[in-house]
Amino acid sequence: MKKYNTRQRQILLDFLKEHADESFSGLEIVEKTEGSGISKSAVYRNLSGLEKEGKIRRVSKDGEHTAHFRFIDEEHCKGHIHLSCIKCGKTGHISDDAAKKIAESLIEEDGFSLDSDETVIYGICDKCKS
Ligand SMILES: [Zn+2]
Ligand SMILES: [Zn+2]
Repeated sequence: MKKYNTRQRQILLDFLKEHADESFSGLEIVEKTEGSGISKSAVYRNLSGLEKEGKIRRVSKDGEHTAHFRFIDEEHCKGHIHLSCIKCGKTGHISDDAAKKIAESLIEEDGFSLDSDETVIYGICDKCKS
């Protein structure tokens, strides 16, 4: 039983890892991983488990109340401020220069020290702008 659970968890994690710059709702994940050996209930169960462990992050998408999830690459993502497109759900990192400027002006203007790891900036990506 334990092993079975671990395997489904890994399928889910692998899927999100492969699409690390995108976010998906639970239902989308269920549809996209269909046939790969993970059940619908396992998707939802493992999503909340992985979120608690900090392996994935919950993001919001424009006009949708459903929670979306995306993978967090701990090594790669550490210290980066994330951008998340509210239209397509695509995520990325802001450039180091921009991050530095934001952090510096927050300290200067507001005396606020930014926690980059926890920061997601929502907006509309280049592709979705048109
Ligand atoms: Zn990242
Ligand atoms: Zn977009």
